[in-house]
Amino acid sequence: MLNETSSLPILERSRSLLARAQAVIPGCAQTFSKGPGMFVQGVAPNFLSRGEGAYVWDVDGNRYIDYILGLGPVILGHAYPSVNEAVTRQMSQGISFSMPHEVELEVSELLRELIPCAEMVRFGKNGSDATAGAVRLARAYTKRDKVLCCGYHGWQDWFIGTTSRNKGVPKAVRELTIPFAYNDIAAVHRLFDEHAGQIACVIMEPVTFSPPARGYLQEMKDLCHRHGALLVFDEVVTGFRLHLGGAQALLGVSPDLACFGKAMANGFPLSALVGRSEVMRLLDDVFFSFTFGGDTMGLAACKATIHELRTHNVVGKQALVGQQLKDGIDQMLHDFHLNEQISCLGYPQWTTFNFKDTSGKPSQDIRSLFQQESLRRGVLTHGSHLLSYMHTAEVIEETLAIYRDVFSVLAEAIAGGNVRSRLMGDPIRPVFRQV
Ligand code: PMP
Repeated sequence: MLNETSSLPILERSRSLLARAQAVIPGCAQTFSKGPGMFVQGVAPNFLSRGEGAYVWDVDGNRYIDYILGLGPVILGHAYPSVNEAVTRQMSQGISFSMPHEVELEVSELLRELIPCAEMVRFGKNGSDATAGAVRLARAYTKRDKVLCCGYHGWQDWFIGTTSRNKGVPKAVRELTIPFAYNDIAAVHRLFDEHAGQIACVIMEPVTFSPPARGYLQEMKDLCHRHGALLVFDEVVTGFRLHLGGAQALLGVSPDLACFGKAMANGFPLSALVGRSEVMRLLDDVFFSFTFGGDTMGLAACKATIHELRTHNVVGKQALVGQQLKDGIDQMLHDFHLNEQISCLGYPQWTTFNFKDTSGKPSQDIRSLFQQESLRRGVLTHGSHLLSYMHTAEVIEETLAIYRDVFSVLAEAIAGGNVRSRLMGDPIRPVFRQV
């Protein structure tokens, strides 16, 4: 059942830019998750042109409520004035210098104040810089090669070799990293026994959409230390979102090292590797060094972002509006009798949908129809919700009104068994093959 507002958006300019991109940009985007494969073609734009607060506009002028937020960084909102002013002030004084700038020290001290494990701090640009640095540092500290990992940790060889997109990663490198499943501590016990004396670190996202089992993270820390390995938390998503000090502050377990990125500078590129000084001091010698490591734009943005996050209790407010969104969704899933097929999981600040077909298997078709129907009504999502400070109660209400129409279409399609045939383009292709 479609209403007037759900007619198809005009996407002419998007399509013509996509045709040009196909000739010059492999993958048509700089990040897999931003490319055309992640959006149902036919209704999805391919290029965005601007953002303001909780909204973005595509190159044809269509407006969307943005729940992807540049893959997570935009925690205050697009074009947030005080962050942009801080960066503009910095730009007027130069941005790249041949010696450290004072703002580097100021932000290091701020992170030390906020993040429990952060006795010392180094900066990178992408989250992958921080995770690759953490792994190298752990290997240097322990004089061991193997790594256990849980979650997604970036594009570098040491991790991507464990995934289905491992082309180009040497076999010898692939064999050094072993993934494990979250909340299964027995599996990690077994891996430590199997690779006795060889594991440098466990690197893991401390939490994603399921909460840790009672005592899980503390037991992981004890297990690592008993075997002479380090515990590294990858807080690239959880940092500044679940708590200003990361999930480690929220959940009360402090790792040896931690990696931050994404939301720390409201979209300006910045990441950080932080940790216990006894380990971090090895970076006097271990190579973690690149041209833009101390770029002052990202640091000025981070300082201004932290100031806003603290002054306005942004994380607390996001928890409230996130709960409003989650409650509204749960009510609708109940109203449309969709609870069997669709659930909304996670902390209120970072929720995701789980879509299942009638046999209980993950359904990429239902996910795609959800995205299609959301996009054509003005909501940009991959099926998750990251919130900015500008996602006010009014924006959530606007979203829920749209979702009511979306779920009505989904309910009809699922009942009619015609989800796939309603898709206007290919279903979303996940970045990694699902096993
Ligand atoms: N760790 C986690 C948990 C992530 O979600 C990501 C990015 N999605 C990374 C590391 C890598 O960050 P980046 O893409 O900025 O290199």
